Amino acid sequence: MDCVFCKIINKEIPAKIVYEDEDLIAINDANPQAPIHLLLIPKQHLKSIMEINDENAQILEQIIKLAQKLAGEFWIDEKGFRLVVNTGNDGGQTVPHLHFHLLGGRFMKWPPG
Ligand code: 5GP
Ligand code: ZN
Repeated sequence: MDCVFCKIINKEIPAKIVYEDEDLIAINDANPQAPIHLLLIPKQHLKSIMEINDENAQILEQIIKLAQKLAGEFWIDEKGFRLVVNTGNDGGQTVPHLHFHLLGGRFMKWPPG
């Protein structure tokens, strides 16, 4: 499949992997927007959160638990962080494979740009 995250999952293109299990992979973003910028990616190719349903919704719990674990490992659990899911064109999604941005290490402004 011509999907950059599927290629990373299949080890066809390199990435700095910070976590991997049967269902999930977490990597450093190639173009970081904060001192810590990780991407938490389900291995199943879902285009966006719009493809979450009763069959696959357990991945959301796994992602949240992984975000907690990585926030601890990267020392941003106390200071705080932002977990972001850009969705569709207006949401600013550029890679059509569901992923969660875990951003931290600096103050996050609101509203986002
Ligand atoms: P989106 O814009 O879809 O919310 O987020 C896609 C993210 O994937 C962007 O932050 C972009 O920097 C990152 N990205 C795109 N291609 C690659 C890649 O080949 N490797 C890594 N590590 N990150 C990528
Ligand atoms: Zn994919």
